[in-house]
Amino acid sequence: MGGEHLGPASYFWLLTEFMLKNLTIKKASELLAKKEISAVELAGQYFDLIADKNKDVFAYLEIFAQSAKEKAEKIDSLRAAGEKLPALAGIPLAVKDNILIAGQKSSSASKILENFTAPYDASVIARLKEAGVVFLGRTNMDEFAMGSSTENSAFGPTKNPYDFSRIPGGSSGGSAAAVAADMCVFALGSDTGGSIRQPASFCGVAGLKPTYGAVSRYGLMAMASSLDQIGPLAKTVEDAEIVFSAICGADKRDSTSVDYEYKKLEDFKLQGLKVGIVKEFLGAGLSGEVAESIRLLLKKLALAGAEITEVSLPHAQEALACYYVIMPCEVSANMARYDGIRYGLSKREKGGGMWDIYFKSRAQGLGDEVKRRIMLGTYALSAGYYEAYYLQAQKVRNLIKEDFKKAFAQADILLTPTAPTTAFKLGEKTSDPLTMYLEDVYTVPINLAGLPALSLPIGRDSLGLPIGLQLVAGHFQENKIMALGKAIERL
Ligand code: GLN
Repeated sequence: MGGEHLGPASYFWLLTEFMLKNLTIKKASELLAKKEISAVELAGQYFDLIADKNKDVFAYLEIFAQSAKEKAEKIDSLRAAGEKLPALAGIPLAVKDNILIAGQKSSSASKILENFTAPYDASVIARLKEAGVVFLGRTNMDEFAMGSSTENSAFGPTKNPYDFSRIPGGSSGGSAAAVAADMCVFALGSDTGGSIRQPASFCGVAGLKPTYGAVSRYGLMAMASSLDQIGPLAKTVEDAEIVFSAICGADKRDSTSVDYEYKKLEDFKLQGLKVGIVKEFLGAGLSGEVAESIRLLLKKLALAGAEITEVSLPHAQEALACYYVIMPCEVSANMARYDGIRYGLSKREKGGGMWDIYFKSRAQGLGDEVKRRIMLGTYALSAGYYEAYYLQAQKVRNLIKEDFKKAFAQADILLTPTAPTTAFKLGEKTSDPLTMYLEDVYTVPINLAGLPALSLPIGRDSLGLPIGLQLVAGHFQENKIMALGKAIERL
């Protein structure tokens, strides 16, 4: 635009960008409550911005313009009638493509589900609907949540809003990029081995992986059922906390969910807080710049009165190997349901009979990474290998859980990098799955132990790319990591 006169339309556009920039749930709900903006206007501004940015970022697979408008109108009329509305009423959000919203398509970014329409709401969606949110659309992801870069989407990769030549992380890359690019107020993601936290870290947003059992998984397409959790990606820790408290708690349709009400920690102090740093997580493989920004933060925490102690997770180095046995075993079982017949007939290939339909549909409807994991899992579960792999991995999983128990006897909260590096280039790791798997080295142990963990931005590297920090606490102690996360944001 350099030097030219701005027409009224451009001013309007600048205003939209300015308003949506870093717009939090708290700010947006204040604006809505004071009627400074209506829910319809707010959603409309997001759609304008999405229309402009999505061609570069490709965070959204589909937007829900019509249903969002209808929902926003309903909220506005309730407000006009003087109804007392919850904090999330009228707040626009994005949803990862593996979480079901009744009547909308849901594909897990896979060809095999390209024409699948969700017949019911996931429990988290039902809760958010009750709270009055406005769904803007569904976001891109690695196919069936398998990946760390969103490059495994069958529909093309999402780009990192900080640098379009880089990946946003994965598998919830579309959700993280949408939040970072101000294309929604907050988003939902899922995390099996790091898929909320690593993209949050690469896109400079806050992302929470709740305790296993804290949030219902009903209506989330299962990847590895003993590890999966749904959680928020948001602009601030406080926003993540608001969303988490709205979606957590028991659900009779998910027997692993636990009766749990979130309570904010009111009397949190840095003074005397025991912060544990994990010795094994600060060595080889960690980028110098990430290590340096963590060191700086530790200094500030110590100055504010926190006690920094070193803890050890001796079996953490086995965590990746353990995860890449247990996860594919569960994947191979969960993926068996996609046969080309159920869940929409998009990839049902004409063939000689039932087996032919199965083989052709799966061969053509599923991507390479998904197939690799189905094969790995099927092999590891087969007779003769089950004891050597699956059973052995379960034993290692127990050792990892024990390590965390011991660590939490010494520290209140653990502080680690979220990922070994900042966002890498598109295509940089696609030809070598093993280097891609190494992305999860600090996040996977948390899922194996079922613990809650938060990733939050703590700075930028020399290329201007966000650096993420991971905070981990004991089971159902989300309130501790939220309190420390907010304190770190203030620091
Ligand atoms: N990146 C990890 C994987 O590929 C984690 C995925 C996830 O959490 N869904 O398995």
